[in-house]
Amino acid sequence: MGRLATDTTRHTDVLVVGGGPAGASAAIRLARAGHAVTLVERRTGRSPFTRGDLLDPTAVRELGDVGLAPVELGAHPLLGLRMWAGDRSVAVRWPNGGSHHTPGVAWRRSDLNRVLLDTATAAGVDVILGYEATTPIVERGFVRGAVVVPTDADASDMAADSASINCRFLVVADGANSRFGRGLGTTRDRQWPYAISTSAYFDSERSGDSWVDAVLGLPDRNGNPITGHGWVAPVGDGTVNVGVTVLSTYRDVLGVNALKLLDSFVDEVAARWHVDPASRLTDPVRRRTPLGGSVRPVMGPTFLVAGDAAGMANPFNSHGVGAALMTGRVTAEVLDEALTVGNSTTLQRYPARLDEEIGRYHKVGRLSMRFLGRPRLMRVALRSGIRSEDAMGAALRIASNDLRDDGAGGAERAYRMARMMTRFAPSW
Ligand SMILES: Cc1cc2nc3c(=O)[nH]c(=O)nc-3n(C[C@H](O)[C@H](O)[C@H](O)COP(=O)(O)OP(=O)(O)OC[C@H]3O[C@@H](n4cnc5c(N)ncnc54)[C@H](O)[C@@H]3O)c2cc1C
Repeated sequence: MGRLATDTTRHTDVLVVGGGPAGASAAIRLARAGHAVTLVERRTGRSPFTRGDLLDPTAVRELGDVGLAPVELGAHPLLGLRMWAGDRSVAVRWPNGGSHHTPGVAWRRSDLNRVLLDTATAAGVDVILGYEATTPIVERGFVRGAVVVPTDADASDMAADSASINCRFLVVADGANSRFGRGLGTTRDRQWPYAISTSAYFDSERSGDSWVDAVLGLPDRNGNPITGHGWVAPVGDGTVNVGVTVLSTYRDVLGVNALKLLDSFVDEVAARWHVDPASRLTDPVRRRTPLGGSVRPVMGPTFLVAGDAAGMANPFNSHGVGAALMTGRVTAEVLDEALTVGNSTTLQRYPARLDEEIGRYHKVGRLSMRFLGRPRLMRVALRSGIRSEDAMGAALRIASNDLRDDGAGGAERAYRMARMMTRFAPSW
């Protein structure tokens, strides 16, 4: 992994800001295609961090596309989700329509990110940890690099000064908060949904289980079902990842204290999962994730925005690793062409390529969540949905970006309806 000396100016073909799934996915592919790539990541890799650890089959396939086999690398294979509403539950296997039969997995996020950055280094990416891109370098209106500063004095061998990294193209992959992206003019459409999520690890004898619990309709302080869910994901290493997500389509989203909701959810699942609520292994942090393509623009003349920075996570369940890896792939495809033919107008294809890959999931997810934000409709959906493996299977296919091309199932019908409605109300 690279270090910077004081007052350095570096030159590279592509500068990637952020070393999460989106940034790493783009960097690995571009370096393998023969381009000079520098990636800056503000973490040093030493600090632990907790997100959800669930990778659906779409995410696992994206990892396979860069040559990574999660289970061989220590991820815990999962058969699917056991969906709960009240005391009823239905087990739904991962979708395996089409030609692929990839399992989903639980993989600690810090392990996933470490493997991705090691793979990037092996591919020839200049990976610089412990530095934050703070200010874009702009020449004649075009973004041509970034000023970076160390975030952790111990991790770098430079005192505290900044360095400049010049580039032909820049990938903004700095996650949900995306301060760097906002500095380039990206904004979230406030009509569209976001999620508030938080999670923590606990020791559990059931860490080796093969099913994730997804609990729908968690009650708010008045007993109304919240749009969102709680989860318990067995990680296979002696721990489980327990978390909650509240979607902003829930009317009283600002009145929900996510950390308290997590505490009461842990109490609820403690006996079933052999978890001691008093022995949390990590402190939960509450994070906001923009969903459903809600951040725009996703490109400028010399930069592309990927992953959470572009609001790519699924509005149905707020999962975004698969979408982040996918946007990294599309970013690399577009930039490879631009660098190879020496023509940056190919960047203009990026929004349409994203729409082809993920637009339909965003549409149906946004629409479903808008309806389920109403407690009465949510109650009805939970009562009837939880009795039906088919209905829950359809929900899981939408949530994991996995609609079938034959178009025959309930998920595909829901999508066709969403597509029709968004023709009349495009902002939905
Ligand atoms: C509590 C929680 C649980 C979740 N659970 C799941 C789940 O189970 N499955 C799932 O698929 N999704 C889940 N998600 C969503 C998922 O985490 C994101 O969609 C995914 O991480 C997006 O990847 P990314 O690369 O775009 O962003 P990130 O993973 O956030 O990566 C961005 C990276 O950029 C770095 N960075 C930021 N700013 C700078 C800067 N200026 N300079 C340099 N580096 C910078 C950050 O340190 C970070 O490493 C969860 C989210 C939360 C909050």
